[in-house]
Amino acid sequence: MTETVQPVIVGAGPAGIGAAERLVKAGLRPIVLDEGFRAGGQIYRRPLIDDGRSYRNRYGSEAKKAERLHRAFDRLVPSIDYRPETLVWNVADTDRGGHLDVLSRGIHREIAFTHLLLATGATDRVLPFPGWTRPGVYTLGAAQTALKAQGCTVGEKLVFMGSGPLLYLVAWQYMKAGASVEAVLDTGPLSSKAHLISLLPRAPRIIALGLFYGVQLKLAGVRILYGVRPEAIIGEERVDGIRFRVGDQIETLQCNALAYGFALRAETQLADLAGCRFRFDERDRAWLPERDALGRTSRPQVYVAGDGSGIAGADAAELAGELAALALIEDLGKAHGGDRARQLIAAHGRILRQRDILEKAFPFPRDWFETVPGTTMLCRCEEISISEARLAIETENISEVNRLKALSRVGMGRCQGRMCSAAAAEFLSGVRKVEPEAVGRLRAQAPVKPIPLTFGVTGEGEARS
Ligand SMILES: Cc1cc2nc3c(=O)[nH]c(=O)nc-3n(C[C@H](O)[C@H](O)[C@H](O)COP(=O)(O)OP(=O)(O)OC[C@H]3O[C@@H](n4cnc5c(N)ncnc54)[C@H](O)[C@@H]3O)c2cc1C
Repeated sequence: MTETVQPVIVGAGPAGIGAAERLVKAGLRPIVLDEGFRAGGQIYRRPLIDDGRSYRNRYGSEAKKAERLHRAFDRLVPSIDYRPETLVWNVADTDRGGHLDVLSRGIHREIAFTHLLLATGATDRVLPFPGWTRPGVYTLGAAQTALKAQGCTVGEKLVFMGSGPLLYLVAWQYMKAGASVEAVLDTGPLSSKAHLISLLPRAPRIIALGLFYGVQLKLAGVRILYGVRPEAIIGEERVDGIRFRVGDQIETLQCNALAYGFALRAETQLADLAGCRFRFDERDRAWLPERDALGRTSRPQVYVAGDGSGIAGADAAELAGELAALALIEDLGKAHGGDRARQLIAAHGRILRQRDILEKAFPFPRDWFETVPGTTMLCRCEEISISEARLAIETENISEVNRLKALSRVGMGRCQGRMCSAAAAEFLSGVRKVEPEAVGRLRAQAPVKPIPLTFGVTGEGEARS
């Protein structure tokens, strides 16, 4: 008797689409699940309804790639089982297959898989500072999502702060959209940008784009400051401005919205629930699922691809998606032509090496917690301040993040630590004076994202919430 093969892909971004295309070519019909309304993932996010804006207007320099990927996905749809608006909130029974718990348009379901390919992408990495939970403070990604998906800005007068390529890109996108960009506050030192020189021969397009955004912002009179540390958001209820330190100076800027972030954090919770082994990645300062060159994890028949297995950008994600699909095809005992895999591994490796340099130009602010006052919220869901977390660490002699969660409730709220776990690990490692790796990894818990309570069952295996 032959077992039916049912691959399931979670995520319809570049990695998930790259994987689906390859599986379809091999004669398989994957189920593709994504919590978004439309396929495309973060970078190539599509508006809910077409609003008349051109690809150039929505995706700028990446317009051609976005259009190609969207068209490729639209062609794929008849050959796959695509389920948008479907949140995967749990993975269970992962012994060579298993099932996913999903919430799809208000209905809870189980979806069985024989092979699971996780292409769940990333989200912004944020750090706390006084006022970060105030209405009017957004992550860089959220500010960009408002532009791309809804065609609106999150404010009229904005300041952008943080570190990472998105900082300059989103500031530039807001400027082009007609918002008043008051300043770009880069938390990295100007000297860190010298790393970009060594990237020039390897990735001239990235450098040219970065220069273009920087020069255009400058020409428009936008202030760009380096080595900034925020002091506080100003305003009683919303954002009226930001006070920050640059060198020995304290400055204030008026604005009605602030967007900030410190690069991205891989969404690894489903890989964790699937029982994959993790390793610490120095560059991303994060625990990531272990994967071989093609994307196989330590769990048989579970694969990872794209930013969810380490931040490398959309081009790398697409290649990684196809690679993981090739691994899956190989594991089914089907031939796939090793040449393609070798080409993809080489191209993927080239992008990763470029990424290593890029990350050095946008360093993580390791000294962050030295200046943040104790009254600042560390975990906004459970309203645990930095002082409360410090007290728990010192009185309970905590040196591991799961203990910190258990004894202080940091990371125990609705977001399950998706917003604060990176900050909590950095904070704990700072108090203990060890590297973040030494404080361990916050274990994922289902549901990985907030879901409504279930009230009744609507049919076999289904429950309406
Ligand atoms: C907010 C944001 C904005 C970005 N903007 C840019 C940009 O402008 N330019 C740029 O070069 N890079 C940008 N990046 C980075 C870029 O998007 C990624 O490098 C690239 O999209 C990675 O592709 P991916 O397929 O791995 O993941 P993504 O494109 O992130 O796709 C992952 C998909 O998985 C889905 N998903 C995740 N978890 C679940 C779940 N539990 N259940 C169901 N579905 C799930 C998501 O809805 C998403 O569609 C951005 C990243 C973020 C987070």
